[in-house]
Amino acid sequence: MPLAEINGQIDIVQVGESVLRQKATELSVDEILSSEIQDLIEKMKAAMRAAPGVGLAAPQIGRPIQLAVIEDVSHSHLTPQQLAERDRHPVPFHVIINPRIYVEKDSRNVEFFEGCLSIVGFVGAVSRATSVRVECLNERAEPVIIYAKGWYARILQHEIDHLNGVLYIDRVILPTLMTEENYVKLWKGKSVKEIQSGLTPTVNLPLDY
Ligand code: ZN
Repeated sequence: MPLAEINGQIDIVQVGESVLRQKATELSVDEILSSEIQDLIEKMKAAMRAAPGVGLAAPQIGRPIQLAVIEDVSHSHLTPQQLAERDRHPVPFHVIINPRIYVEKDSRNVEFFEGCLSIVGFVGAVSRATSVRVECLNERAEPVIIYAKGWYARILQHEIDHLNGVLYIDRVILPTLMTEENYVKLWKGKSVKEIQSGLTPTVNLPLDY
């Protein structure tokens, strides 16, 4: 499938395209080492940085293959307290290919707001594991085991979901789904519990008509 390219920049596909809902196929060692995939990784890195985002999965650029890029190094928009609450630390650029993800024994679930480059303009709270192990290949087709905690564990869960055709809106605490603009204007700094109770319908669903 050709990539939509404008000025060398690849387009990020938006929710509603079936490629975001497919289970992506695994890459062979030969495919990983091919110039086509190496070139694709560079383009995905550039697209992620331009967006900007902390992760980008191949289905998001129209390619249903088991490959994602991750980088979380820019934290100037967050206070030290927010960084501590999220257990968020710098993660250098890296590539995950054919990942398997496992929740670690010491993990618990925490709720935070997240967004997605394929669902532009919206955010919602998602409960995710705080501690995961990922077994995958890197861009040199070498086996890697990643032990991730906190926000990095959240990024991995979000990106690996993409490779299985799953979006955060499938896991979102539904009343908390809102525009990014309203999140900033009305709810920023409030806890997920507070936001959820402020936005949950006061009648039981489904309604009888
Ligand atoms: Zn996403």
